[in-house]
Amino acid sequence: MSLAPGNGPVQISPEQLRARISELAARIREDYAGKEPHLICVLNGAFMFHTDLVRALGMTCTIDFMQTSSYGNAKQSSGEVKLVKDLQFPLSDRHVILVDDIVDTGITMNYLLHYLQGRGPASLKVAALLSKPSRRKVEVPVEYLGFTIPDAFVYGYGLDRSQYDRNLPFITSQE
Ligand code: 5GP
Repeated sequence: MSLAPGNGPVQISPEQLRARISELAARIREDYAGKEPHLICVLNGAFMFHTDLVRALGMTCTIDFMQTSSYGNAKQSSGEVKLVKDLQFPLSDRHVILVDDIVDTGITMNYLLHYLQGRGPASLKVAALLSKPSRRKVEVPVEYLGFTIPDAFVYGYGLDRSQYDRNLPFITSQE
């Protein structure tokens, strides 16, 4: 789903988030029928999306968490990705869905996909709430995408503004 950029700020309401996440959950339910997906949350930004997605799934699944080094308080990626928190559970024979907040340059996601692939999952797909395709430096496959947005710094619904505002129930780019 693409958000009409216009010239205004990005605004995604709680209702839009709920509706889109329930569509993604329905697709995952269908695609993983007869399987038990393992949904890995990339902390901190994806914590709300991951929670609402697994809650909407309505199927047997397992979860785990990992964390990469963040931007700190900067708005640009350093281009270097470090693992801060590793997984708790092995991935062999698991149908993994990596759940992240936003794909910007794609560098973080590319790193995580290589890392997870090396752990021998039965399958590996990506769910991302947001994507800024105009910023991409590395192409990454996103099977389940919430919203395509223009090049703007967004926060709320898990995403931070210098560590604040993660608890907003909506996403905005408004200053
Ligand atoms: P990438 O490696 O794709 O450039 O960056 C991915 C990470 O950068 C995201 O998981 C997120 O933590 C952070 N990021 C990228 N764009 C934004 C944004 O507009 N707002 C916030 N809060 N974080 C962002």
